[in-house]
Amino acid sequence: MTNYLTNELEHLTIDGADAVSLAETYGTPLYVYDVSKIRQTMRAFKTLFEKENVPYVVSYASKAFATKAIYQVAQQEGIHADIVSGGELVTAIKAGFDTKHLSFNGNNKSFDELTLAVEKGVGTIIIDNFLELKLLSTIAQEHQIKQDILLRISPGISAHTHEFISTGQQDSKFGFDLLTGQAKEAFQIAKNDDNLNLRGLHAHIGSQIFDVTGFEKNAALLADTAQSWGWQPAVINVGGGFGIRYTADDKPLPESEYVAAIIRTLKGKAASYDWKMPEIWIEPGRSIVGPAGQTLYTIGSRKDIPDIRHYLAVDGGMGDNIRPALYQAQYEAVLANQPNAQTKEVVRVAGKYCESGDVLVWQQALPETQPGDILSVLATGAYGYAMASNYNRNPRPAVVFVENGKHQLVVARETYEHIMSLDKDYTLQSSTK
Ligand SMILES: *Cc1c(COP(=O)(O)O)cnc(C)c1O
Repeated sequence: MTNYLTNELEHLTIDGADAVSLAETYGTPLYVYDVSKIRQTMRAFKTLFEKENVPYVVSYASKAFATKAIYQVAQQEGIHADIVSGGELVTAIKAGFDTKHLSFNGNNKSFDELTLAVEKGVGTIIIDNFLELKLLSTIAQEHQIKQDILLRISPGISAHTHEFISTGQQDSKFGFDLLTGQAKEAFQIAKNDDNLNLRGLHAHIGSQIFDVTGFEKNAALLADTAQSWGWQPAVINVGGGFGIRYTADDKPLPESEYVAAIIRTLKGKAASYDWKMPEIWIEPGRSIVGPAGQTLYTIGSRKDIPDIRHYLAVDGGMGDNIRPALYQAQYEAVLANQPNAQTKEVVRVAGKYCESGDVLVWQQALPETQPGDILSVLATGAYGYAMASNYNRNPRPAVVFVENGKHQLVVARETYEHIMSLDKDYTLQSSTK
């Protein structure tokens, strides 16, 4: 059994703050992030490259959790960020993030998004398809700049993970297909375009990956591909996807193993091809914010079906964490007011939304609970708030950052006024008599 960190009240603590009093102060559901942990992970990634003395960029894949506050922490820690939409770009800009340190991914960036990116000086645009090559070239020309780009390749590598979070296999909507020669064609177009500065190749094989072989193959493939085109790239971007621990069944390797394997592979390739060592770029999202976040809920009703199941309902659910419903994702939960108490029963933690699939934790051993107790679902920091919705017209929860016992609201809780703010009355009369 895990021994959770507690204070003198035997309450769960999050980077030194009492989880129960956070719930009282800010209400529930509440996303809480341990900022010390975020900084540690960001620093650990950087240190790995620095120890190996290789040029690198650690780019936080901000789709995992994109708020002003996290862009600010990333900037303080000297890491870059990857964006996938105009909305993320605007958030980063409002956070004061240096746009030169942004890279822009996505398989259908619009003309307006690309124009905004060029106007705001986004450092790198990761080109995904032929339409984008043409659009970006035109936009760059109009703005009289030469835009740094990478080409995204679909490498034909299957990562051993859920189908919907696997992106590297040949049958994928992302990137230029390698096996049919589309990637080479894109390379030739990009290389000869005066408005684009092609710096390297990118491939992301998927998410929540637990073994190093996919990363090694990906890195090797990108290097071999460039070499086969007679080209020495300045950048090899191997994407993100480093797996994290959601439950005891997940056995992720330490980040250092994935990164060491990538560095080893590319050092080997650079030596054998007699290249200047290319910059190695990685794009971790989940591994930076996932384990550092948790969601606090208030326990409400329960339903006991003898010999079948105990359902314990909380005041949130699929509107603040869609992943269990979407991917059968597994989580662990802990009773925040008594995290180390003896467990008494196994329950299914359900939400308050009108869907049977609205589950937060499929199976959880817990001590006896009472309505009003605070339950924390752990490791919800990635793709939780980022994928939150107003389903059933529930307001989205607030987000609090905690660092060394101090806490600060970084996203306010939505109100019913926010939910209503875009609705308009319908006033047209029916023309049928
Ligand atoms: C989603 C994504 C990432 C991050 O994946 P994680 O599993 O969160 O690390 C990195 N790069 C690209 C291109 C992505 O689409």
